[in-house]
Amino acid sequence: MSIQPTKDAHGAALRTDFSLLIDGELVQSAQQLDVINPALGTVFARCPAAQAPELDRAVAAARRAFPAWRARSFAERAALVKRLSQRLRDCQNDLAELLTREQGKPLAQSVAELDRGAAQSDGMVGIEIPVEVIADDNDKHIELRYRPLGVVGIITPWNAPVNLALGPLVSALYTGNTIVLKPSPYTPLTTLKLGELLNEVFPAGVVNVLAGGDELGAAMTAHPGIDKISFTGSVATGKKVLASAAATLKRVTLELGGNDPAIVLDDVDAKAVAKKIFFASFVNSGQVCMAIKRIYAHESVYQELCDALVEEAKKAKVGNGLDPATELGPVQNKMQYDKVVSIIEDTKQAGATFLAGGEVPSGPGYFLPPTLVTDIADDSRLVQEEQFGPIVPILKFSDVEDALRRANDTRYGLSGSVWTKDLNRGAEIAARLEVGTAWVNQHRTTSAFVPFGGAKESGLGRQYSALGLKSYMEPEVVSVAKR
Ligand code: NAD
Repeated sequence: MSIQPTKDAHGAALRTDFSLLIDGELVQSAQQLDVINPALGTVFARCPAAQAPELDRAVAAARRAFPAWRARSFAERAALVKRLSQRLRDCQNDLAELLTREQGKPLAQSVAELDRGAAQSDGMVGIEIPVEVIADDNDKHIELRYRPLGVVGIITPWNAPVNLALGPLVSALYTGNTIVLKPSPYTPLTTLKLGELLNEVFPAGVVNVLAGGDELGAAMTAHPGIDKISFTGSVATGKKVLASAAATLKRVTLELGGNDPAIVLDDVDAKAVAKKIFFASFVNSGQVCMAIKRIYAHESVYQELCDALVEEAKKAKVGNGLDPATELGPVQNKMQYDKVVSIIEDTKQAGATFLAGGEVPSGPGYFLPPTLVTDIADDSRLVQEEQFGPIVPILKFSDVEDALRRANDTRYGLSGSVWTKDLNRGAEIAARLEVGTAWVNQHRTTSAFVPFGGAKESGLGRQYSALGLKSYMEPEVVSVAKR
């Protein structure tokens, strides 16, 4: 028998007030997960970890709850989602603090994540999915209806655990499906607390929340009782999810990684755009799927933009997210920290110029300074890979066709942006980016009413908007012969 320590490395009691949610019951489990605070690099909490038997119970509960849940009207389901959003707002302070402790992001950004999750949830349940009449004449009446799929398995990553759970969760619930939700083992805690709120609002079995490791995610994708997987995570895991889902022909939505380009044209006010570009690159210390990960600057504004971005990098305060002055928190986990450090080392070896950052502080915590790099080859790791951390290359171009070619020369295709005073020209160039979302003079703007998702290897399908909601439903044609 192993005795589990009940204090963290600083002698404080470990938080253990977490439960799985299965069939309306908050339950413990035989296995547990230790959760690390990335600002300290030490375990601060422990929660239950589900295995195959808990998954089976959760899926069975979701299947049992499905007929009654699907029978409710959209309006009834919308009312319960709105009650959930209200509960999220009531509990915002406690949840935000927990989110910062487990994820690392500054407290204000944890609050913003919760706010955004609630607002997008409210927005989604305002979208109507009407029956579409395809033909109606003397001979026939043909209509297209949408019905819920059944049980949806939702698997989330560690960079924005609440918001990335709520998008698919509310989409699936509102459209009449029942749920098994699994957060990342690095950030299970806020999602388990979300489970408690879900349990207050929704009938037993409609939503089940299971913390667990990667193998639990794999078991969900193979489970015959799950009809659809909504997965948000890396491209590599997304491919495994798709392969595993093929065996039972599950529906899948894949929201995967990105390597977003920002193309800065020759007519910008470099100082003004630098602030926005810096934030869109380094928010959550670069750990955002749709963060700017490559900056292409026209040669006429290149130097001024570099200088302005360096100024922003020097001002940015890196630290523990619980300190109100902090603007950039740590990298979320050791695995990702090691990956970003290895990209920094590789970039140094390649002889690139570091305009800001580049140093790797000795711990505690997984902190790295905002790092800006120039004089780096297009085929380097930093330009080719999704760095998912606080290091961004600035690449020079003289011809916009060349910038577009380089921006599109990637297997990723999540989003991208063009920055210019000429809005028409900006929109034309943006439309030629091979991405799911192309912005002009903004980056990372999303809403409940606008579809979001990736082109190429950045994903499959879309979340949000009527398009996203319909991906949680099976289209069914009803065709009536009138004579
Ligand atoms: P990850 O792929 O390692 O893990 C994501 C989730 O999948 C975790 O819950 C994990 O336990 C689970 N998992 C692991 N192996 C699995 C398997 N074989 N089958 C099923 N599930 C499995 O990703 P991560 O490191 O947690 O997240 C970072 C990645 O997520 C980045 O690439 C980022 O760009 C991407 N992301 C994409 C979006 C988007 O909307 N497109 C949003 C946020 C993050």
